[in-house]
Amino acid sequence: MTDPQYDYDLFVIGAGSGGTRASRVAAAHGARVAVAEEYRVGGTCVIRGCVPKKLLVYGAHFAEDLKDAKRFGWQVPDDCAFSWPTLRDNVMEEVDRINGAYTNTLNNNGVEIILSRAVVSGPNEVTLADGTKKTAKRILIAVGAHPLVPDVPGAEHGITSNEAFHLDAVPKRILILGGGYIANEFAGIFHQLGAHVILMNRTDQILRGYDRQIVDRLLQISITKGIEFRFNAALQGIDKGEDGCLTVRMGGYEPAVVDAVMFATGRLPNTRGLGLDSAGVQLDSLGAIVVDADNRSSCESIYAIGDVTNRIQLTPIAIREGQAFADTLYGNKPTSVDYACVPSAVFSHPPLAGVGMTEAEARNALGSVRVYSSDFRPMKNVLAGRNERSLYKMVCDAETDRVVGLHMIGPDCAEILQAAAIAVKAGLTKADFDATVALHPSMAEELVLMR
Ligand code: NDP
Repeated sequence: MTDPQYDYDLFVIGAGSGGTRASRVAAAHGARVAVAEEYRVGGTCVIRGCVPKKLLVYGAHFAEDLKDAKRFGWQVPDDCAFSWPTLRDNVMEEVDRINGAYTNTLNNNGVEIILSRAVVSGPNEVTLADGTKKTAKRILIAVGAHPLVPDVPGAEHGITSNEAFHLDAVPKRILILGGGYIANEFAGIFHQLGAHVILMNRTDQILRGYDRQIVDRLLQISITKGIEFRFNAALQGIDKGEDGCLTVRMGGYEPAVVDAVMFATGRLPNTRGLGLDSAGVQLDSLGAIVVDADNRSSCESIYAIGDVTNRIQLTPIAIREGQAFADTLYGNKPTSVDYACVPSAVFSHPPLAGVGMTEAEARNALGSVRVYSSDFRPMKNVLAGRNERSLYKMVCDAETDRVVGLHMIGPDCAEILQAAAIAVKAGLTKADFDATVALHPSMAEELVLMR
């Protein structure tokens, strides 16, 4: 396998979720592997994405939990104090720990970590920041994506999710632009932590791709909680006043005066300046690397996985692609990733989650569908006097009874959906769900009681 004319069998650019998995598995299969990382080992998910975000979601949720605790007999002072620096610093400490664990994993598997930016300078060559050149039989690009910042006057006054983890304080008023995952997750976090949140979107639809009824429930709950929505609003510009306040100008609405603006308007592949033209690597109109089912680009020796290919921008997908890449090329085990029925969740307050087709998608694809649902108030909410209802929804093929989609909003629904997604992926029917005895009392039991 090893070809002595190259410095390495495999040179990976980017030590995020995908690059780390591919590097360590290829090395475990016996390849000589180096991975270059320009920032920190761990990538978006560990350093400034999924992991710190989820910890902030936990932290933010105490705002409601502490209120609810009183109804359960706990004496909690009304002026319960919250320290953002404590949460922020503890979260960053955990990020450091996982960063260390990723680094150890790579070291233990004999992967050489090169802490430098690397760019492609030919089909089998990369150049490091200090000018050093390294050769490899294959190059794997796993450099991820970065937040898109709209090109409007004053955009430099805004932040993205990258900066949100390092704020000095929770802004009193924040405007979040976008209506996707990041916008809704951070709207929940900042709102729970006491900010007035305005979520502004260019259309009247948030979370496109999720089931409408579930999204409408989130919208209704978010509005009830006090999050302000501005729909069909086109951002015109941001002005910074002498007092530091930001005035956000937008079409169709009065300007909003806030303390911070956050852009959550999608993420673009990190291919700019990566030297990919030197190897003839084809990009799509968004700058994503075009790859085939084996993750191979238009250049025979260059492969790409994860967000930089803009297939499904989710960590577990990047990890699977990295594993499949390494097993196929170095483990003599040809594997391809199955993109059907990928479960996903939005960690909003409350969270929502889904797998398979939405009702609208199923109606388009199958024609005849049956929809079952359960609209209920979790018992914990009842005792807490919290008027928030959960909604679970099952979409079935009317001809075969097969469950083709499962969608839910409510406490812990990401945890519940992961287990139920196994049944959906396995092609089970509504009758199979119903044949399972309810586990009582739980929220998940609604899955086998849907009407
Ligand atoms: P999303 O694609 O989820 O949402 C982007 C939002 O911004 C949409 O509402 C979109 O509107 C709007 N938008 C896009 N471009 C513009 C523009 N130029 N001006 C104004 N609005 C615009 O992206 P996110 O940034 O929220 O997240 C990026 C990706 O990261 C997600 O796709 C997801 O895959 C991943 N992610 C996953 C998480 C999870 O699994 N829980 C959490 C966070 C991120 P429109 O709908 O009209 O296009």
